[in-house]
Amino acid sequence: MSNDNKSIHEFDFDLICEYFSFIERQGPGSPEVTRKALSFIDNLNDKSRIADLGCGTGGQTMVLAQNAPGQFTGVDLFSKFIDLFNQNTKKLNLQNRVKGITGSMENLPFQEEEFDLIWSEGAIYNIGYERGLNEWRKSLSPGGFIAVSEASWFTEKRPEEIHKFWMEAYPEIDTIPNKVAQLQKAGYVPVATFILPENCWTEHFYVPQVAAQKAFLKKYAGNKTAEELIANQRHEAELYSKYSAYYGYAFYIGKKL
Ligand code: SAM
Repeated sequence: MSNDNKSIHEFDFDLICEYFSFIERQGPGSPEVTRKALSFIDNLNDKSRIADLGCGTGGQTMVLAQNAPGQFTGVDLFSKFIDLFNQNTKKLNLQNRVKGITGSMENLPFQEEEFDLIWSEGAIYNIGYERGLNEWRKSLSPGGFIAVSEASWFTEKRPEEIHKFWMEAYPEIDTIPNKVAQLQKAGYVPVATFILPENCWTEHFYVPQVAAQKAFLKKYAGNKTAEELIANQRHEAELYSKYSAYYGYAFYIGKKL
């Protein structure tokens, strides 16, 4: 495959996007969990404005829109994900209420207090949990809700191998009580917290990747970047099966004071 006109950096992003666009979700989660988190949000109506930050191709956004009233805006850094997102809205006949835009969660193209609900599944780590909670609060109306899923430790101590992995991957991972305290400190009333069940990682995330990995390695045989990407994904899946008692994702839902 030729990548003559592209920097390695751009090519990597394209490759990563292509890989993840094979699967419905780009992070751990499930329709059941999205609906459960949504059940803690009050007062949505047809005029409500909802943003889904780091929406990917929109797996969870579509579930939200099918289960709640309002106008939805999905934001993702990668325009290829947004293209797929907008194709999905049409397939599900949601295009009048749901729109995907390319943009960064670090520099939201919104007005102050524009949204009644800010959603983000498996994506706030890109800006960092505390920074995201603090900065996104400006875009929420008073009494508005925030709902994010975030990597969390389940125990005070854990085996060295998994501790080291996360300290390199995302040192802001923390215990659930500490994450709830950070939510409160950022100006939200903690409304609900729950741990995502293991099937969000296995059945809905790692299992669909097995077929995608085979197809991808065949298509990009001999491509070092593709091989490295797949090796990393497989390593993550192995770590999860070994250490799922110690970490996972938790949903954190708060209401702006
Ligand atoms: N929410 C989706 C899901 O649960 O399937 C996607 C989760 S995926 C692990 C993280 C997403 O964040 C990716 O779609 C990625 O493109 C997006 N992302 C990364 N950095 C971003 C940024 N600065 N602004 C907006 N989106 C970003």
